[in-house]
Amino acid sequence: MTAEWNPALVSDELITLTRRLGDPAHDLVILAEGNTSQRLDDGRIAVKASGANMATSTRDDFVIAEVPPLAAMIASSATTQEELTSALDAGQHEGARRRGSIETLIHVAVQTIAPTAFVAHTHPTAVVSLLASVHAETAFDRPVYSDELVVTGKPLFVPYAQPGIELGQLFAHRLDAYAQSEGSLPSLVLLGNHGIVAIASSAAGAEAISLMAVKGARVRLAAYAAGGVAALSAESVAHYFEREDFHERRKNLAGTA
Ligand SMILES: [Zn+2]
Repeated sequence: MTAEWNPALVSDELITLTRRLGDPAHDLVILAEGNTSQRLDDGRIAVKASGANMATSTRDDFVIAEVPPLAAMIASSATTQEELTSALDAGQHEGARRRGSIETLIHVAVQTIAPTAFVAHTHPTAVVSLLASVHAETAFDRPVYSDELVVTGKPLFVPYAQPGIELGQLFAHRLDAYAQSEGSLPSLVLLGNHGIVAIASSAAGAEAISLMAVKGARVRLAAYAAGGVAALSAESVAHYFEREDFHERRKNLAGTA
């Protein structure tokens, strides 16, 4: 069975991260939007169930999913949405159908490239505003201030695709290309007309990346309103990436490997 319901395997850390990201004060998600996951020691992932609210989530709101069979579904162009939905079904428990989020493949794609402790996907209003604008593809090309660069690094932009098998396959393809060219996973992925994905080795890192993406989006929105964005120069960004203290701060704040 690809997915099972086993609340005993869901950590307090994952629940705390999920609730914190679901806090209405952050404006990252409403209703059942968004999902989080944690890699377990055996390589499976605990991923938020479909329909669960992040702000009030409990260990009952997660399912445990096997990575290899879902990775095989990403790799096959013949996979249908129905097959994916069926693979994510962990069955009926305590009167409720438990099924992994339809966006589980985002979490699986990360694990197939590099084992990663935490992945958090949200739909922050400020970031989606930019990702649903004419500036979507280029808004985050260059950092606008240095602390943003430290926490989010060089983000990856993935154009819009329908959540489910279509987004899972496009996301996996773009993530793999990024990892090949940059030598590591991005900390932040921007999904066109959709949201963000934070990738980190710690729960604190996943939260920091998510909140910094929102702050960076707010700065850009205000800068566009003030006449346009004047980003950091390529030269100064390159200089930052060469500094040892930059990598140390990035590791501490963003949970990079
Ligand atoms: Zn989403």
